[in-house]
Amino acid sequence: MDYYSRQISKLIEELSSLPGIGSKSAQRLAFHILNMPLAHVQQLSATILQAREKVRYCQSCFTLTDDELCPICKNANRDHKTIMVVENTRDLAAYEKTNKYEGVYHVLHGAISPMLGIGPGDIKLKELMQRLQGDVDEVIIATNSSLEGETTAMYIGKLIKPTGIRVSRIASGVPVGGDLEYIDEMTLLRALEGRTEL
Ligand code: ZN
Repeated sequence: MDYYSRQISKLIEELSSLPGIGSKSAQRLAFHILNMPLAHVQQLSATILQAREKVRYCQSCFTLTDDELCPICKNANRDHKTIMVVENTRDLAAYEKTNKYEGVYHVLHGAISPMLGIGPGDIKLKELMQRLQGDVDEVIIATNSSLEGETTAMYIGKLIKPTGIRVSRIASGVPVGGDLEYIDEMTLLRALEGRTEL
């Protein structure tokens, strides 16, 4: 990008390193930012910085939050004896959007993938098992229906079964390999209601 000065090229390069941003989008965003009022740009960069600095894992469910406990874990009206296991915070948000699930969550931050060298120790599985030493009635496994998601579900199922805690898997109405966040709320609800015991 010799036709752009160094600062512009650098901005485009940084933006295009973000997921889903190709070089054309990066150029569009860069020129948009360069045309924004300085105060607005300062606010945007401060917001990004603050979010990165302050956001951490919830001490209970490991979703991303800016407090020790996330709002869901803090909420006494939720059913803390039902734990839904999801792969990431975006999946949690997808289920929250249905407004029908009253339990709490556990965010694994990934799924077991022998192909990618991701083992049980690389996701928040040990932390889940620790939580199950408390008062828990049911664990609902809502990992994706991809190979990795299914492998993870099977693994967790086998791990929990001996504890005597009810463990179920959401129905496979969820398209294979489909990211939960792109699935409509009705499909998610049907998957949740049609869950089967493992
Ligand atoms: Zn939490």
